[in-house]
Amino acid sequence: GMAVSPLDLLDLDALLTDEERDVRALTRRVVDDRVRPFVADWYERGEVPVRDLSLEFGKLGLLGMHLTGYGCAGASAVSYGLACLELEAADSGVRSLVSVQGSLAMYAIWKYGSEEQKQRWLPGMAAGELLGCFGLTEPDHGSDPANMATRARRDGDDWVLTGGKMWITNAPVADVAVIWARTSEGVAGFAVPTSAEGFTAREVKRKLSLRASATGEITLDDVRVPESARLPTARGLKAPLSCLTEARFGIVWGALGAARDCLETAIAYAVSREQFGRPIAGFQLTQAKLADMTLELQKGYLLALHLGRRHDAVGLRPEQVSVGKLNNVREAIKIARQCRTILGANGISGEYPVLRHANNLESVLTYEGTSEIHQLVIGQKLTDLSAFAG
Ligand code: FAD
Repeated sequence: GMAVSPLDLLDLDALLTDEERDVRALTRRVVDDRVRPFVADWYERGEVPVRDLSLEFGKLGLLGMHLTGYGCAGASAVSYGLACLELEAADSGVRSLVSVQGSLAMYAIWKYGSEEQKQRWLPGMAAGELLGCFGLTEPDHGSDPANMATRARRDGDDWVLTGGKMWITNAPVADVAVIWARTSEGVAGFAVPTSAEGFTAREVKRKLSLRASATGEITLDDVRVPESARLPTARGLKAPLSCLTEARFGIVWGALGAARDCLETAIAYAVSREQFGRPIAGFQLTQAKLADMTLELQKGYLLALHLGRRHDAVGLRPEQVSVGKLNNVREAIKIARQCRTILGANGISGEYPVLRHANNLESVLTYEGTSEIHQLVIGQKLTDLSAFAG
């Protein structure tokens, strides 16, 4: 018989609608044309044509695609998830561009912004003409953003922002930065034009992971913005955390894409590579690896699909998204590393995508809540005891 692709083994496509399959095919096409042929080179050089890509993705409705109005596609959560999967099958950095734009920057403005802010930013962002970033993490405050040091103080009708943000995806190329800052009344969010005086974004260099993604360090040196830049309904830390829940949902799916690409690469390699006079795919140890990895990929996909259907039907609770993010990223990185072994020395070469995916997944494991933080979220739900502090 014919060899079967790992995600086709269980006929899981039967669980998708025609529209969802269309979104997947559309995303696959743009990824094959515009990303796959070039991404290894972008990764190696640590440069990615974010502007060109975002215009391309915008044309297809991939930016803020699960949002409604303001030029957004209004697609289902499952469609959005499938798009993330296909994007990350090319590279986690390219999927990050789309996640940050749609699920973090656009979602924050869409959910918490004024009508004026939505009109000003969202149509251009959906089209990919304007880029956004989302600044929550700081050099000294990552997993514990409640203790952030960035401050916004009132000065007449204005706000003055002081502090710094670190590890901010798209910051070096963004037109608007959603900045979270402490005020005398708790955490508030601001849509800050990156052209504002006192705003600087420096590119983070020498990354060994997520190299096909622009990452920046933002300095806010008395950045003055009017009250109309504050997101009026964002009150307290739960506002940025709700944005993270959206972005984490995309990662639940995206990580599966990186894993699938590794597994497909490893299978193709193992079938054609011969040692001891036969294909290495014919060795039982290789087949055991391939079978076990395929099991995890399928389970992760079913989990993603369940969360996607719940998202579309009733919405998701944060701990439910934690289950998906923790499991799927942790299993994806295991799959990537295991596939690497199947490729032998070629596994460490940039001629193959496998170690690039594995290295990228190190970032994915850490951002949007580390694995440990998701364990604590789930643990707290199970025990009603918080293990975060003290
Ligand atoms: P820390 O919080 O210092 O954690 C270090 C270690 O301690 C981890 O293993 C962690 O799990 C563990 N730890 C911390 N607290 C506890 C605890 N209570 N119990 C047990 N273990 C604990 N942030 C943004 O705001 N916007 C972005 O666009 C963005 N993009 C990113 C892109 C990349 C490539 C990377 C690498 C990061 C990005 N981040 C972004 C930042 C990311 O969200 C943080 O790195 C992450 O939240 C972890 O924070 P930290 O790095 O400060 O690690």
